[in-house]
Amino acid sequence: MLADAGIGEWGFAALVEADGHRILFDTGARPDTVLQNARELKVDLAGVRDVVLSHHHGDHTGGLVTLRREYAKADPEALGRAWVGRGIFLPRAAGPYVGMMTAVKSGYEAAGGRFVELDQPRELFPGVWITGPVPRVHPERNWPAAGRISTDDGTVEDNLPEDQALVFDTDRGLVALFGCGHAGVVNTLAYARRTVRDAPVLAVLGGLHLFQKDDATLDWTGDRLREFGVADLLGAHCTGLEAVYHLRSRLGLDRRHCMVGAVGASFTLDAGIDPLSLAR
Ligand SMILES: [Zn+2]
Ligand SMILES: [Zn+2]
Repeated sequence: MLADAGIGEWGFAALVEADGHRILFDTGARPDTVLQNARELKVDLAGVRDVVLSHHHGDHTGGLVTLRREYAKADPEALGRAWVGRGIFLPRAAGPYVGMMTAVKSGYEAAGGRFVELDQPRELFPGVWITGPVPRVHPERNWPAAGRISTDDGTVEDNLPEDQALVFDTDRGLVALFGCGHAGVVNTLAYARRTVRDAPVLAVLGGLHLFQKDDATLDWTGDRLREFGVADLLGAHCTGLEAVYHLRSRLGLDRRHCMVGAVGASFTLDAGIDPLSLAR
């Protein structure tokens, strides 16, 4: 893979390949970033039917309509089914992406796409799980402070109730892929161990929204991840640069097993993390 291919942005998307099944997880921020990066990285999204959206924020849902429109030209099924957590369509009264899902929903459905809402874990393919909304057992508060949800009785704090992750049940343990991790990486992994399998967590990948956290919170998070057995950590998007290196140290990992994720980075079960040149 070319080390300098693709353009970066404040957004997230990942292509999952598992036992011949392919899933697009999140769709980037700007309408055509993922479309262009897929071309540059020589990743063909044709034949991918399922999209999983981690939550409603525009840095994860901004490319959905463009991608659906483009790929549906050749294949009406392409990217035609979007799995979302219950709560994603709640009306937002304040926050960075008020009105975002209303626009994404109408655009996607007008392009022939269909949403499937989850309120509990769902095994999409054998061993490939979408968590659905995650119970907030531990006091993680990994979401933007300004968000509000409209209710009949006024507004309430938006803790991203729909936030969900992908979990892969492999013979070496669980692998988890996060969008922003607003439900909390510890809450999500604890829930996965309860609902998917009570196994060690081999790898944590994606955005963990820890970039504003203080050292005490990062210590606590690192200690929980260590208890879960985390051996690989690719901290992308909103994880935060300082947070990645803090967790590396707290988890006792080395530079081959914990690093910052960027455009084109990958994780495979056999080879582990390939961050490309710059993050190595
Ligand atoms: Zn995000
Ligand atoms: Zn977010």
